[in-house]
Amino acid sequence: MNLEKIRKKIKKKVGIDVKVSEELHAIKLEGNAKEWEQVVKAGYIAADSKCKGVINNILVDTIDDSISKPNFYNEELDQEECDVLIIGAGIIGCSIARELSKYKLNIILVEKEHDVAMHASSRNDGMIHPGFAPKINSLKSKMNLRGNYLYNKISEDLDVEMNKTGSLILFDSYKTLPLSLIFSIKCKKINLESKTLLRKKLLELEPNLAEKVKWGYYLPSAKVMSPYLMTVAYAENAVNNGIKLYLDTCVMNVVRKNKEITHVITNQGEIKTKVVINAAGTSADIIADMAGDRFYTIHPRKGEIALADKKVGKYFNRIAGMPEISLKSKSKGGGLIKTVAGNILIGPNAFEVQKKEDYTTSNKSLKEMINDRLEIIKSVHQRDVITYFAGTRAATYKEEFIIELSENLDNFIHVAGIQSPGFASAPAIAERVENITLEVLNKSFNVEKNKNYNPIRRKNKNLNIMDKEERDKLIHKNSDYGEIICRCEEISKGEIIDALNSPISVDTVDGIKRRTRAGMGRCQGGFCMPLIMEIISEYKNLKMKDVYKKNSESTIVVKETK
Ligand SMILES: Cc1cc2nc3c(=O)[nH]c(=O)nc-3n(C[C@H](O)[C@H](O)[C@H](O)COP(=O)(O)OP(=O)(O)OC[C@H]3O[C@@H](n4cnc5c(N)ncnc54)[C@H](O)[C@@H]3O)c2cc1C
Repeated sequence: MNLEKIRKKIKKKVGIDVKVSEELHAIKLEGNAKEWEQVVKAGYIAADSKCKGVINNILVDTIDDSISKPNFYNEELDQEECDVLIIGAGIIGCSIARELSKYKLNIILVEKEHDVAMHASSRNDGMIHPGFAPKINSLKSKMNLRGNYLYNKISEDLDVEMNKTGSLILFDSYKTLPLSLIFSIKCKKINLESKTLLRKKLLELEPNLAEKVKWGYYLPSAKVMSPYLMTVAYAENAVNNGIKLYLDTCVMNVVRKNKEITHVITNQGEIKTKVVINAAGTSADIIADMAGDRFYTIHPRKGEIALADKKVGKYFNRIAGMPEISLKSKSKGGGLIKTVAGNILIGPNAFEVQKKEDYTTSNKSLKEMINDRLEIIKSVHQRDVITYFAGTRAATYKEEFIIELSENLDNFIHVAGIQSPGFASAPAIAERVENITLEVLNKSFNVEKNKNYNPIRRKNKNLNIMDKEERDKLIHKNSDYGEIICRCEEISKGEIIDALNSPISVDTVDGIKRRTRAGMGRCQGGFCMPLIMEIISEYKNLKMKDVYKKNSESTIVVKETK
């Protein structure tokens, strides 16, 4: 690596003079910049060279790298010992936990938040990408193709609804038609089913496409799922198979002895472990740093997403995007997705941000994105949007997944840089991490199968998809199912109580919302939130002021009135 050449290039192209060195086979950048954009640009220049990764330590004055953490400390987990400790209960940590629960191992999954799927895994599009976009033979490509395939069985085993919609890449000019040849060559290479469709055929699939759409490339293997329901399902199945999940438990440091991590230090005490799996999403580089094994930097890339009311869901059935539109104003991202619940999801866009958990949204960029993306269909308008939110992607400068055993530590596994298509790839990533973990553990003892492992999980009842006879039967048995709490989504008291009694204890309004959809409709909880709070308060024996929206930082009732 020619470090001086990189330094000069950064100076010329970005206008900052930074120190460039080599560490852990990665390029390390140190110095100061005025703007975050300069930091990111410098990172990409360094990543262009043949290095394992980029450690970008360039500072800007405005830096805000705070992340949410539990606000209490105790020693409750001090006596805990495990074979495998997984950090982070997003889709990646939970899918790994479930795969490893097949073995007779003592596994602990720690999550700093009050529930699973609180970050990227509940703030994404839920698209099971077909595997067309990643570079052929990249790790992303391999994981995406296999993940897409594995979800067919996993969604059945875990009882999570999945719509096999297929996706459409749309174009507004016949001049671009030769692209279909390039696309089909790529599809052949990766054994992906695909079809070129001219407007007439496209309209058979999507009758409401705008006049401007002339042709499209169809990838039938794309699917849609609810990302948070899938994460919850993975976590519940893992817990049912014996793994221990500790929520509100933040890893603050790790203890190293020679080439091994022996303990992790959390706000709830010190846990002894034989293997550590780093699935901490946008914070994976912080964990790697604690272990003294950081050869990458995560630079968060925010994406805003808007959701249109179910009432316009009938105008669109699949996944579709127009690259020309998504790439406008340098913001790559998605187009439109019909969710499993029947809403039309719009977006995301993409912006580099400093803060790992920057979930702010901007009126300007949202409006721009919604108008742009809706250009491809008729009959859906900005006024149909009922809510919006943002998530951050865990991008590294190499823009590749990192799924490997540390080169320097014998028991530390990196699962980092898991940005899109991370959700689509999760089952394959879990499979890969399972193999790495077994290889490490089998060096010290013979890992046996868990004879009681049960891959099947059944979800709680959903009244709104039952026929009248089935509903009546259920209500006759338990009248709580006859009391509708959320009118928009038709969610009953019985379903909310089921969620309160589910394998991962939920006691927040958002936890109930994610599991049942209560509060996800047009009124966004305006009517049902107080009722849901009362049910939580009664069944969890909590005062109303102790029923929170997301966690103890998001108080709803300030003062008890009764
Ligand atoms: C806007 C957007 C749209 C996307 N769309 C898609 C899509 O359609 N399809 C697709 O395949 N992918 C998509 N992705 C990517 C996908 O969301 C991610 O790849 C995936 O969710 C990553 O999962 P994860 O478990 O690694 O991260 P996360 O879900 O972020 O989980 C990491 C967890 O680690 C926890 N953690 C962090 N630090 C600590 C600590 N010190 N101690 C304890 N716990 C800790 C965090 O609290 C968090 O819960 C999208 C992403 C975004 C942002």
